[in-house]
Amino acid sequence: MQESVGEHEKRDINAQVGRVLRDLGNPQPPLSLSDVRSLLSLDLQYYRSSDPGLVRELEHRFMFLARKIIPDFGKQILGALAKSKLCAFWVPESARILIDADVPKPKHRWIEAHEITHSLVAWHKHYLLGDNATTLDPACHAMLEAEANYGAGRLLFLQERFASESHDLDLSFESIKILAQRYNNSIVSTFWRAIEERDPGRPVFGVISIHPCHPTIGAHDGPQPWRYFIRSQAFRTQFANLSADLAYAAIHHCVTNRKTGPVALATFPFEDANGNAWEFQIECFSNGHALLTLAFPLRRNSVGLPVNVAL
Ligand SMILES: [Zn+2]
Repeated sequence: MQESVGEHEKRDINAQVGRVLRDLGNPQPPLSLSDVRSLLSLDLQYYRSSDPGLVRELEHRFMFLARKIIPDFGKQILGALAKSKLCAFWVPESARILIDADVPKPKHRWIEAHEITHSLVAWHKHYLLGDNATTLDPACHAMLEAEANYGAGRLLFLQERFASESHDLDLSFESIKILAQRYNNSIVSTFWRAIEERDPGRPVFGVISIHPCHPTIGAHDGPQPWRYFIRSQAFRTQFANLSADLAYAAIHHCVTNRKTGPVALATFPFEDANGNAWEFQIECFSNGHALLTLAFPLRRNSVGLPVNVAL
């Protein structure tokens, strides 16, 4: 489930991120995370789950959670870690960020920014150290993770700068690739920002899914063929009726057999929550690991038939 971060928490996180960027002299993109870490005196280390140093670090990290010394506690945590697929931590006591060396490299930058946010948000230290039932509540944990992801996005895309720069370009994968390069962020994280932050007043949706013609691309452990359904604020209101299942059915209809790169550029009819017909543009791009779909309404009340445009 995707949690949404509260307005009060957003303000607080933005204030912290703003302070870091100001202290760095409001840098141009791409942001150097090693500069952020030096400013905050944070250390970064990569670990492998076979590393004995990790067991010691984990014992330190979770001692407060256990409230007492448990024999082999570090090893027990390692087992839990393997099951939960946790891939990074922030260790407040040693001001250290630990990242699993086996995680694919393109994800490291996002994970590092996520862990930096945990260290910036005052209440995360309290909860992540954990000493009450609230901490162990999965809903609470999901909220902290959503907040850390929110902060990572604000940091890596330099707060309002991304919205204003992306607004000067068309809404397309071509622009997303240009912006990903400019900010040195992944195409997936740039795609996500472009949908949510480029223009919240414009209805836009995105889907991260399997490729209908090549299901190993985007394969994941959820029951649905799609993994994330990302929507702008305006889309949530105006197209509250349009579900991820409907969106995926349209993708299924539009895709070509191409495995990677541009996979579809098509128009497709959808209705809004008031029953008005709209013609949407649907663009699909495969990065080889998942199918990304970007879609938005072009015009109202046009022909009601899907049209595939030659790529
Ligand atoms: Zn986290």
